[in-house]
Amino acid sequence: MIKRTRRLRVNNLVRDIVRENTLSENDLIFPLFVVEGENIKEEISSLDGNYHWSIDRLEEIINEVVESGVKGIILFGIPNHKDCVGSEAYSDEGIVQKAIRKIKEITDELLIITDICMCQYTDHGHCGILENDYVDNDKTLEKLKEIAVSHARAGAHMVAPSDMMDGRVLAIREALDEEGFKNVSIMSYSAKYASAFYGPFREAAHSTPSFGDRKTYQMDPGNRKEAFVEVENDLLEGADIIMVKPALSYLDIIRDVRERIDVPVAAYSVSGEFAMVKAAAKAGLVDEKKIAMEMLLSMKRAGADIIITYYALDAAKWIKEK
Ligand SMILES: [Zn+2]
Repeated sequence: MIKRTRRLRVNNLVRDIVRENTLSENDLIFPLFVVEGENIKEEISSLDGNYHWSIDRLEEIINEVVESGVKGIILFGIPNHKDCVGSEAYSDEGIVQKAIRKIKEITDELLIITDICMCQYTDHGHCGILENDYVDNDKTLEKLKEIAVSHARAGAHMVAPSDMMDGRVLAIREALDEEGFKNVSIMSYSAKYASAFYGPFREAAHSTPSFGDRKTYQMDPGNRKEAFVEVENDLLEGADIIMVKPALSYLDIIRDVRERIDVPVAAYSVSGEFAMVKAAAKAGLVDEKKIAMEMLLSMKRAGADIIITYYALDAAKWIKEK
């Protein structure tokens, strides 16, 4: 007898009731770039439809995010001043700290997550404090603690360390607790690969290293088991949410992590993934909406609970259109 699996694909109604994974605007987080200056809404050339916003213009985009139904943003700051110790990253008058305070004036309907790293703030563009051109782990931890506490003090709900230093989740957790921020959660960029897919972001965040690369701290794309070591370390240190980055070329890692742990898993669908679809759509090669939604759904299917994507606002709109 022929096993007729096509019966469950025969029409929309059947397909709708047997669909295993769906995408919701609740799953999405929108990355937002804030800059110093006034009256700035400047499109990021490498990330079509994404902008650099000055604080005084934030209301427009924040209202758009809230209206879209997307529940969270992850903030990246681009300071005017960079130095070898990234001092703007942990100043109470830093760009992210000011942005958090402004957003909290605009709405309390949005989860504010902040990226914790130094590469946007250091004049050398590396993710920590250099010692003989090598990023010194433990000196960097001290700075990461200061950044996290300053973001929490400004009102961040969740911090997301992306630097890949050893011990940073524990260091940040202890620093937050000591300062009375026990309810500020940590989403750790646990399995963050040294990926070429970050290219467009570095233009957006002005964070290209002035020499060398990030292979002494980010993971080798050839490694899978190492991701479990990173994830387990971060969980032991107190991470509340585990992230895999990038997403599309690392769906196997998302699935592996999902099967091993029970805390929420986030996937960061990075700038290169977004930019490739945009370029292909512009060239008339693909249907942007269908490709983007299929990519995001594949991340859900792989096991991600949360997806950080430059498509968040579009996807929220497309979900409603169906
Ligand atoms: Zn960094």
